[in-house]
Amino acid sequence: MSVANGRALLATPGPTNLPDRVLQAMMRPAEELQTKVIVDLTFSILSDLQKLFRTSGQTFLYAANGHGAWEAALTNVLSRGDKVLVLASGRFARGWGEMAGFMGADVEVIAGSWRAAVDPAAVEARLRLDADHSIKAILMVQIDTASGAVNDVRAVRRAIDAAGHPALFMIDGVASLACMPFEMDAWGVDVAMSASQKGLMSSPGLGFVAANDKAMQAHQTANMRTAYWDWTSRSSPLHYMKHCGTPPEHLMFGLRAALDMIFEEGLEAVWHRHALLAGATHAAIARWAEGQVVSFNIEDGKERAASVTPVLVADNQAEAIGNFTKGVCGVTLGLGIGDLSGKAFRIAHMGHSNAAMVLGTLSAVEMALQSLGIPHGAGGTSAAIAYLGQHATMPVQASA
Ligand SMILES: *Cc1c(COP(=O)(O)O)cnc(C)c1O
Repeated sequence: MSVANGRALLATPGPTNLPDRVLQAMMRPAEELQTKVIVDLTFSILSDLQKLFRTSGQTFLYAANGHGAWEAALTNVLSRGDKVLVLASGRFARGWGEMAGFMGADVEVIAGSWRAAVDPAAVEARLRLDADHSIKAILMVQIDTASGAVNDVRAVRRAIDAAGHPALFMIDGVASLACMPFEMDAWGVDVAMSASQKGLMSSPGLGFVAANDKAMQAHQTANMRTAYWDWTSRSSPLHYMKHCGTPPEHLMFGLRAALDMIFEEGLEAVWHRHALLAGATHAAIARWAEGQVVSFNIEDGKERAASVTPVLVADNQAEAIGNFTKGVCGVTLGLGIGDLSGKAFRIAHMGHSNAAMVLGTLSAVEMALQSLGIPHGAGGTSAAIAYLGQHATMPVQASA
């Protein structure tokens, strides 16, 4: 007999669980597209995106998923034939680079490893060879959702600076924005992009891009520009130019509620919550791994992401684990993609997620390991409980 009914849990790395407040915010009539409510909504989101990306640069909002925001970022700063350097640490930077290639860029990939973060020394070495600065942009993800690696944006920036290279530094923050620290201006990121359905716990369908002055400068001469994504037309102060058409009203109402929740909790507190829930997840996996059948994909603990953890499973049993947690427990895990296809499941601990949700997910995985007879070290979920018991505390009271 299944015990799956009750509130269904998504432990997939996007889309993520939608808070009731976000859902309720979307349950309203459509409005004429230039009412004060809609205009204020647009401008409040654009300005709050600056707070999320930590930038005084310009922000852009698109009716698009993450792939759309990828295209938006590329099309506005590149010209056909430009050389683009992709720093791979799994699947996602490669995907962004493939898109750049499709659009007419000349793409080179530093392959890296599926089991480790990008190596800043390799980046510096490659850039030093590019004496005539033919590389125009460097693409990297902060968190690779497929491998579970977190890349050190600051260290890669230092490597670019050490090589004295002027390329634009472009960061994909789809699986990291509002999950871990990101400081676009302080860290010297020129273009950053993200999407609504992961850490931002909103409906899929909104994409975001932020651009600093250097990126806006590159935009002036870019020849890949197309009308829908274009920063120049969207930089107009006129509201109707901000969307290049009808605003995605309901997605924006939902996002507004999610942003309110994030800023009420405090962005730093949100980052810290993610770090704690990741720590609990890692504590459980470390215990299970003692059975020598399941293991971390990312080998160095410091390179494991705060938002998603892929778990390798021997003998193609990852899918069986996912089927069990969903069918028996009502918990949907992510499965491995790319190089980890068939070899891993992924536990997302991002967005609208608390101890009960993560501990419940870990319990469902442990149940699956037991029921399927997959060897594992005992007490993984207990280790996660102990971790949170030790590190999590009552919320800091807001001062009156
Ligand atoms: C999910 C994801 C994307 C793609 O987003 P879509 O909305 O599915 O197009 C890009 N980059 C990263 C790091 C992601 O996690």
